[in-house]
Amino acid sequence: MKVVLENLTKRFPPRNKKGAEVIAVNNFNFEIPDGQLIGLLGPSGCGKSTTLNLISGLETPTEGKIFFGDEDVTNLPPEERGVGLVFQNYALYPHLTVEENIIFPLQNLKGAQKMSKEAMHQKAVETAKLVQIDGLMERKPKEMSGGQQQRVAIARALVKVPRVLLLDEPLSNLDARLRLQTREELRRIQRDTGVTTIFVTHDQEEAMSISDLIIVMKDGVVHQIGKPQDVYDEPANLFVAQFLGTPQINVFHGEVKGEKLYIGDEAVLDVPGRKDMPVWVGIRPEGFIPDENGPLTCRMDRVEVMGRDVSVVSTHPQMTGRCIRSIVSSENKFEPGQQTVRFRLKPYKVFLFDKESEERV
Ligand code: ATP
Repeated sequence: MKVVLENLTKRFPPRNKKGAEVIAVNNFNFEIPDGQLIGLLGPSGCGKSTTLNLISGLETPTEGKIFFGDEDVTNLPPEERGVGLVFQNYALYPHLTVEENIIFPLQNLKGAQKMSKEAMHQKAVETAKLVQIDGLMERKPKEMSGGQQQRVAIARALVKVPRVLLLDEPLSNLDARLRLQTREELRRIQRDTGVTTIFVTHDQEEAMSISDLIIVMKDGVVHQIGKPQDVYDEPANLFVAQFLGTPQINVFHGEVKGEKLYIGDEAVLDVPGRKDMPVWVGIRPEGFIPDENGPLTCRMDRVEVMGRDVSVVSTHPQMTGRCIRSIVSSENKFEPGQQTVRFRLKPYKVFLFDKESEERV
C-alpha cells in the first residue's frame, strides 16, 4: 500500500499568551512506495512522532491530506485506517498471555470479519511464527526478555494484516546487542510480509542499516529523502552531512579561490568550475589519506587502534568541533611523538556548503 502525504502540516497552538505556535510538521510532501521500509530520522523534537501520529490518525493535520493508495484517509479515525502501531514501550497487557495479547485486536471484529476462537488461535500461531515467539504462547509479558516482548508487540500489530505498519522508536528500550538483532529481524519480518512500514528513530545508523529509503527531518521540515547510501554520499546540506555517519563528518572553514579549495593557506584540492566563495568544507573520516607530501597539514593528537582500521585524531586551526577524526587503514605507520600529520583528500568524500544557507554548492 503506497502512502501519499500531501502538504501535510501540523501546528500546535501556543500554550499561553506569551508562547509561540509550534510547527511540528511543515508542508510534508512525499509518496511512500508500496512495500518499502522507510526510516524517518532526525534529532529530538524534529517532528518524527507527530508525522507518524498523523499517518495513524492519532493526530489530525492542520492542513494537508493523507492517502493510503487512492483512498483519502485524512478524516478516518485510527481504527478504520488499518494501521499496525508499535511504540517504544511495548504496552502489552500484563495479565494476558502472549497468545491473548496477540489475538486482542481480533476479538473486536464485527460482522463478516468476526472470527471463531479456533480461527483466532490459528492466526495467532501463524503470526507468532513470523516473529519467532510461537514457543512462548502461554507466557505472561513479565516472564519474557525485552526483545521477546517487543516481538509480541510487533505480532499484535501484524495480526490484522495492517495496510501500513508504523513503528515509533521500537528498539529504544533494548540493550545494544538485542537492538542489533531485533532490527535485523524487523527487516526480515518486513520483507516476509511486504507491508509498507514507517520506522521512526533518532539513531542514524539504525535507520541507514535497515531502510529502503530514509527521510531526514529537522524542525518539522524534510531536509532530504533517498536511499541511505545516496543520502550519505550526496548530502543536500550541512545538517544532513553532519547527521549521518559515525564518526561525524569533519567540518572546516574554507575558501574557493582560482578553482582551488583552500583550508587556511593550504590549497588542499582542485575544484574546477567552482566560483570563488567562502565555504564550509565537510570531509568524511574515510576521506583522508595519510601522505607525507599531502597538502593538508594537521597537528597530530593521537592514534586510536580499532583493529582493521585506525582512527587518527588531529587538530587544525580552521576546523570546527573538537578534533578531526580520520579513519585510515592500520597499514599506515605513525611515529611515536609525531607532531604533525599530512593528508591527501579523496575528492568524492569532500563536500562544500554555502557559508550562509548551508546548502551544498
Ligand atoms: P523525539 O525524538 O524527542 O520523540 P520527535 O521528532 O518525535 O521527537 P515530535 O514529538 O513530533 O518530535 O514533536 C515535534 C515538535 O512538536 C516538538 O517541538 C514538540 O515539543 C512539539 N509537540 C509535540 N506534541 C505537542 C503537543 N501535543 N502540543 C504542543 N506541542 C507539541
